[in-house]
Amino acid sequence: MEQQALLNHRPRVVIIGGGFGGLNAARQFRKEDVDVVLVDRQNYHLFQPLLYQVATAGLSPADIAANLRNTLRKQKNTEVVIGEVKHIDRATQEVVFEEGKLHYDYLIIAAGMKHNYFGNQEKWEQYAPGLKTVDEALDLRRRMLLAFEAAEYETDPKERERLLTFVVVGGGPTGVEMAGALAEIAREVMVHDFRRIDSSWARIVLIEGQDRLLGAFSESSSKNALEELQERGVDVRLNTFVKDIDEKGVTAGEQFIPAHNIVWAAGLKAETLADSLGAEQDRMGRVHIEQTLNIKGDQRVFVIGDMAHLEDEDYGGVLPGQAPVAIQQGRHAGKNIIRLLRDQDLKPFEYFDKGQMATIGRASAVAETGKMKLTGFVAWLAWLFVHLLYLVSFRDRVSVLINWIYAYVGFRRATRFVVGSDERGLKQRLLDHGPTRLLEHAPEPLRPDKALREAS
Ligand SMILES: Cc1cc2nc3c(=O)[nH]c(=O)nc-3n(C[C@H](O)[C@H](O)[C@H](O)COP(=O)(O)OP(=O)(O)OC[C@H]3O[C@@H](n4cnc5c(N)ncnc54)[C@H](O)[C@@H]3O)c2cc1C
Repeated sequence: MEQQALLNHRPRVVIIGGGFGGLNAARQFRKEDVDVVLVDRQNYHLFQPLLYQVATAGLSPADIAANLRNTLRKQKNTEVVIGEVKHIDRATQEVVFEEGKLHYDYLIIAAGMKHNYFGNQEKWEQYAPGLKTVDEALDLRRRMLLAFEAAEYETDPKERERLLTFVVVGGGPTGVEMAGALAEIAREVMVHDFRRIDSSWARIVLIEGQDRLLGAFSESSSKNALEELQERGVDVRLNTFVKDIDEKGVTAGEQFIPAHNIVWAAGLKAETLADSLGAEQDRMGRVHIEQTLNIKGDQRVFVIGDMAHLEDEDYGGVLPGQAPVAIQQGRHAGKNIIRLLRDQDLKPFEYFDKGQMATIGRASAVAETGKMKLTGFVAWLAWLFVHLLYLVSFRDRVSVLINWIYAYVGFRRATRFVVGSDERGLKQRLLDHGPTRLLEHAPEPLRPDKALREAS
């Protein structure tokens, strides 16, 4: 009965995920005679490539997140629904929530990826959070700022050293950007802020299992990134695997590194939603799809973006989990559904590879497009331009640009606020004991303990 009623209605396209893929898919339907329902568990579209700047106090969440309802307000055939999809029932064509179901005539799944701790999630995640959501970025920002605050009052040299040690696990673009930004904060932004410590003593360790950073880039870009990071004082450890993480630090290879702040940027796997499709998946959980972006043998269900596994001959392998792939696939999936509605054949997806880039810190980046490889300031300018261009709203572009100019000219970071409470109790420790320690001890500056540092 319900099915019948739906069939008498306009076709309903359900899109799961308001990220790069989902949002761009939704926009394709603005002039079409369909009902679109965009479901996301968050009420905002997030520009993930700049998330590390929120985590390192350069930008505020409002600069890189756009409210989904507001973004799609003029698209009258589209409804935004906040909810978490638990699984998908392809037999009944339903998207299933904890309570209730939603029928679809066509479905686009663009739910992205989540962190992969390779079987150690339960233990490691609490000490080494990743960077995928605004909550996680704010958590990392809080941890970082509190660590400097606590180090200012800490009289035990060992504990001070641990508080000032930041370990980033994973030498892909996120890890490189995070390590570069942390080095910049410690060595340039905060240097005049403290009276007992010198923030530039902070040690930033970047751990990578492979023999080079930025494995998806050319060897020359990897080398350049390594040199730039080392020049900024980052301790880069290649060919090193993390064996354990606990509240005291990281065991990397055979060595234990005492560290209070650990960032996980080492692995991703597809959102669990992918498992409910009953389709073939790769070892990262990504769903194998046809060149037309739908699931094999099902022209009603399309999987796009980070969650999709699609080999591309011209690209030379599986398309990477990058924003341009998700954007282009979102547009293409939308167009293909419109073709189906017009009884036309589906068209295969063709990826237009615009290249890739990663920033290493202020005025330094690597960028590759075709045979062209840029490094240093020129690459950094290209990086700025491209990121501004892809931000969803004009307001965000203006705000981000102002923040970047402020940071570039004044070596400042606009959002160095500690908000919320930290699970590991550092804030409370500070509130309770910080002032007493400060008054108890002579105000002369502390010195880093060289021997301690060399030991790990
Ligand atoms: C820190 C970081 C830095 C990055 N830097 C770059 C970069 O410099 N360049 C680049 O090209 N790419 C970069 N990427 C990758 C890029 O962000 C992704 O490739 C892109 O976001 C993928 O788009 P998507 O639409 O597939 O998924 P996402 O953008 O991840 O969107 C998925 C959406 O689905 C929602 N969702 C998930 N599960 C459910 C569910 N069960 N129910 C309801 N909603 C759900 C999520 O809330 C989210 O809004 C970076 C990613 C990260 C995390």
